[in-house]
Amino acid sequence: MTPLEEIMATSRPVIATGCRIWEGRVSADGVPVFGYLFDTPVTRYLTANRYGKRELVPVFSNKCANKLCINPYHLELIDWEPRESLDVA
Ligand SMILES: [Zn+2]
Repeated sequence: MTPLEEIMATSRPVIATGCRIWEGRVSADGVPVFGYLFDTPVTRYLTANRYGKRELVPVFSNKCANKLCINPYHLELIDWEPRESLDVA
């Protein structure tokens, strides 16, 4: 199963709102994560090609206010943070 197939299989669409709700693991602060060796934020994976900066990673806010929603079109880019912060975890 590819990562994208895993993400699709672990979430379900909500027709009324357009949200796609994550049903898998979440981080300590409630962010949807997946992966085997370490936790990769789902939304960061889905938007990796859209925001291709090497030294910085995007920080998102959900416009629909549902932290479990992983629909990339419901995300609003609010900040960038240094990539090093990912390696610490
Ligand atoms: Zn949403």
